[in-house]
Amino acid sequence: MSFTLAIVGRPNVGKSTLFNRLVGKRLALVDDQPGVTRDLREGEARLGDLRFTVVDTAGLEEATDNSLEGRMRRLTERAVDMADVCLFMIDARVGVTPTDEVFADILRKKSAHVILAANKSEGSAADAGVLEAYGLGLGEPIRLSGEHGEGMNDLYVQLMPLA
Ligand code: GDP
Ligand code: MG
Repeated sequence: MSFTLAIVGRPNVGKSTLFNRLVGKRLALVDDQPGVTRDLREGEARLGDLRFTVVDTAGLEEATDNSLEGRMRRLTERAVDMADVCLFMIDARVGVTPTDEVFADILRKKSAHVILAANKSEGSAADAGVLEAYGLGLGEPIRLSGEHGEGMNDLYVQLMPLA
């Protein structure tokens, strides 16, 4: 038995960087999978002794400003529907933005099982943003740095019960 983790959040918070760290070179050939478009990248993740499926909402980057919200909503809802648990990522260096609030709303309305990650948390520049993340009302944020591999242990502890 394994589980599926969807990484969701607005563009540029670091979703794909974490996806790549979890998946390494084991990227699934999404084009061969019916119903899965390039907008949702799926891979086989490894974290310690955990093996699970991870989904990256990758199609948001190309959206123009006025189409972003609708596209974001549809993609995120699809990812949430596929997933057992969602990693909702914010950029702790920027803090919580109105767009982050839109994502938080989608996740609450879907009653998704959410793990909140304050990413880019290496160093003290992230401290204020981590505190802001508590205000989303989605539980205690994990201090994560997908780029530097920090906080992966805390992510492991959150995912372990699902394995
Ligand atoms: P996505 O749009 O959410 O998929 O974000 P990306 O993974 O493409 O990352 C967006 C930018 O943030 C890139 O320039 C990354 O190098 C940078 N980034 C990702 N993770 C981290 C991190 O943990 N710390 C810092 N400082 N930058 C990061
Ligand atoms: Mg991306």
